[in-house]
Amino acid sequence: MRKKIVAANWKMNMNLDKGHALVAAILKGLPELNSDNQVVIAPPFINIQHTVYQVEDVPHVYVAGQNCFTEAAGAYTGEVAASMLKDAGAEYVILGHSERREYFGETDAVLAKKTDQALDSGLKVIFCCGEPLEIRDAGTQNDYVEAQLKAGVFHLHKHQLANVVIAYEPIWAIGTGRTASSQQAQDMHAHIRSLFAAQYGQPAADNLTILYGGSCKPSNAAELFACPDVDGGLIGGASLKADEFLGIVNAMIGA
Ligand code: PEP
Repeated sequence: MRKKIVAANWKMNMNLDKGHALVAAILKGLPELNSDNQVVIAPPFINIQHTVYQVEDVPHVYVAGQNCFTEAAGAYTGEVAASMLKDAGAEYVILGHSERREYFGETDAVLAKKTDQALDSGLKVIFCCGEPLEIRDAGTQNDYVEAQLKAGVFHLHKHQLANVVIAYEPIWAIGTGRTASSQQAQDMHAHIRSLFAAQYGQPAADNLTILYGGSCKPSNAAELFACPDVDGGLIGGASLKADEFLGIVNAMIGA
């Protein structure tokens, strides 16, 4: 059975004390998890190790980086290698978030290299894809997402897929308060799964966790997570408040 995951993407928010208090509040209210229901927290790089220490004794709660570099080591001032995230205790790394693509010029080719670095370093990858509004309005979102996945992850071997999670995040729904309808999410998630089935076979596709991201909150999470191909969420704004994040985690447990 594929895993369900609710992942918190803090982006460039939460200084050390605020992040510490947020994790403490989340852990206090956390329902019982198991290996099929996981929580992932992605703080800024500098607080990763601190968050790892906070959650290390809590089963099924993991820490993620929000990015890593394409190269393993070297003269790349300001960058962080995947192996460094792994050393710090991270289990996952988020790659290809639309903000990385838009503000930092990350191309599909760059993301393919980052994915390789991350997997080679023993990290699991949460690979983001999703279309801008003009593509959705033109009705070509399926082709757009297919191109992102082909260029970013379809070079991987089948055995590596066990360490890959896909996050579908329509850009028009990120931080806008405008959620994809559960039907829109389900349609795209089913499309993504069919692409993986064509590339890697149905069993591998059936085991793939596909998260939805984009203005997910406690009030819409249950409906989204009830969709057969939606296996949890990547959460931005609502991950910064313990009660909202816990509401979404509870929706995952109940789905
Ligand atoms: C995100 O940035 O990954 C995200 C889903 O943000 P939000 O939940 O705020 O839309």
